Amino acid sequence: SGSEAAPAVPVRMRPEILALPAYRQGQAAPTGFKLSSNENPYDPLPGVLEAVDRATRQLHRYPNAAAPEITARLAEEWGVEPDEVIVAAGSVALLMQFTMAAAGHGDEVVFSWRAFEVYPWMTVLPGATAVPVPNTPDHRHDLDAMAAAITDRTRLVLVCSPNNPTSSAVTAVEFEAFMAQVPSDLLVILDEAYAEFVTDPAAVNGRALVHRYPNLVVLRTFSKAYGLAGLRIGYGIGPAAVLAPARTTIVPLSLTDHAQVAALASLDRGDELRERVANIAVRRDAVYEALLEQGWSGIPKPNGNFVWFPVGEQTPEALEVFRRHGIIARGYLPDGVRLTIGEEESVQNVLAAADEIARILR
Ligand code: PMP
Repeated sequence: SGSEAAPAVPVRMRPEILALPAYRQGQAAPTGFKLSSNENPYDPLPGVLEAVDRATRQLHRYPNAAAPEITARLAEEWGVEPDEVIVAAGSVALLMQFTMAAAGHGDEVVFSWRAFEVYPWMTVLPGATAVPVPNTPDHRHDLDAMAAAITDRTRLVLVCSPNNPTSSAVTAVEFEAFMAQVPSDLLVILDEAYAEFVTDPAAVNGRALVHRYPNLVVLRTFSKAYGLAGLRIGYGIGPAAVLAPARTTIVPLSLTDHAQVAALASLDRGDELRERVANIAVRRDAVYEALLEQGWSGIPKPNGNFVWFPVGEQTPEALEVFRRHGIIARGYLPDGVRLTIGEEESVQNVLAAADEIARILR
């Protein structure tokens, strides 16, 4: 726990790593609903378990690290060449690979804050400096301030839309205006882990940006909409020459065959996938409307599969109310609570808890 002194490390290691807390995972729920990790409540799509089972018979072999089939399939889906696709063990692996490839000691990485908590953490690993730019008061990226934070030491800018944990989306107009201010030799990553859940027609969509910029990589994942969080597979789309250095910084052989075949089988089930995603988006919008009726204000309109409660210092109290209602949410002191939209049966507990929290705050 945080109050215990860390044991002295008996060998010499990098002080910035020793000072870094380990990545903190969303809590599990021994009982009740686990709505703390933006996971998908559905079982794997039809065909996925069978494909994984077949791959399991080859467990004594190393995976095919080149991932030719899933790469070709994604290239076809996105209308790009295979060398404009990079696949890895989750989009978090890709974030680390690109950071490692782009930013070293003395370099800077610009991102909005609060955003995905891995951003500052992965920036420290290669010895670079995090430059967090505060979100606007309505919990959105401040892209003008982010552009203004760019210096000649900046090697990477991270834009997260929908933003984890606030669920707000960057608009296409905002994003394009931002890209116009960014030097064309500075890598920009558009992290769209939750893109499939977006319903705002004005929101940026990486698909519309393919081949538009020499310095843009769009990241997607199979963990959220596709429900394959446990298998670890994500991908990036961008210019071949920009992806190449990030292929060098991969943990060799970390992308399993199981993940590759599961992703392929999921892509074969596009209609069911879209139906599931639409169900979650409808449930999310119903929760958001109900929260407004309860008198909540300041909740950004959600575009991911999650809702942000900006309860500030009252985060621990809000988490406790959710817990009493059988809901494990995720707290981000001192800013608020993020709640995943999960099973239909969880909704009434979520709303009962939210109503109680709104009363505490009043
Ligand atoms: N980007 C964002 C914004 C996320 O929220 C997450 C998951 N929490 C990821 C990337 C990483 O997802 P994965 O590694 O499972 O693909």
